[in-house]
Amino acid sequence: MGLCPLHADQRPSFLVDTSKGLFYCYGCGRGGDLIRFAELYHQVKFPQAVALLQQWRGLPPLLQETAGFYRMQLQRHGEAAAYLYQRGVRSPELIEHMRIGYAPGGCLRGWLTQLGYPLQALRQAGLVTSAGYDAYTHRIVFPLEGNLYGRSLSAAASPHRFLPGAKGGLYLWEQVRQCPEVILVEGLFDYAVLWQAGFHNVTCSMGNHLNGRQYRQLCDRPRAIYLVFDADANGSGQQAAQSLACRLREQGMNVHRVSLPDGHDPNSFLVQDGDARQFQALLEAALP
Ligand SMILES: [Zn+2]
Repeated sequence: MGLCPLHADQRPSFLVDTSKGLFYCYGCGRGGDLIRFAELYHQVKFPQAVALLQQWRGLPPLLQETAGFYRMQLQRHGEAAAYLYQRGVRSPELIEHMRIGYAPGGCLRGWLTQLGYPLQALRQAGLVTSAGYDAYTHRIVFPLEGNLYGRSLSAAASPHRFLPGAKGGLYLWEQVRQCPEVILVEGLFDYAVLWQAGFHNVTCSMGNHLNGRQYRQLCDRPRAIYLVFDADANGSGQQAAQSLACRLREQGMNVHRVSLPDGHDPNSFLVQDGDARQFQALLEAALP
């Protein structure tokens, strides 16, 4: 028995019978089986609900296998290590913590089909293109909650790539949600250098617009939040930080906007100019 996810529930009125796979809500009167729940929750029709459930059930083992394979490749490709070094990712402990891998391209499909995964499943997950090629090539890969982020090494390809579907919640949120002060950054390379510099209360939204789940996570209890978005030339990072700060304050959060020198993101600041002490000074000088 718990709060109903289908209506604004104040007291638990949502009953689940796990032995029969059925639910019923005494508040809104809706009930049925798992597929019916997916139809109502995602507001889709029967076939889409079945597809969503299949994807939800099938993705994690496949993604785990993929992430493990890409981690093995990281050691075997000098260009990947060189790129990480140039972006300031240097400690083996950090690479282990973030489970960073490398997608050279042209070898994942063979590996996974040899393990027995049908090609159709790889296509459906977005790991293989419709033409049959590995979707991620020459990319540093970070496993997320139910997705994979790939950063291109080549300037010719689009820099950021995700698998189809939600990018998930805040990065490694479980590790920071107990912290009274949380630092939020836009990019995983920002996260990496801050974590490496000893700021372990950092998390990342993977872009400067938070999805609903990320926003709810950030507001799940009173806390101080330091927004460290990019100081890019077009001002989009700072605009996003400002509007997010307003929304978070409405939820009673103690928000600080941290200003980086022009043209910097947290990664470039720490890799090129600053050290942990200077970054700490920026946190302390943050605008309320
Ligand atoms: Zn209900």
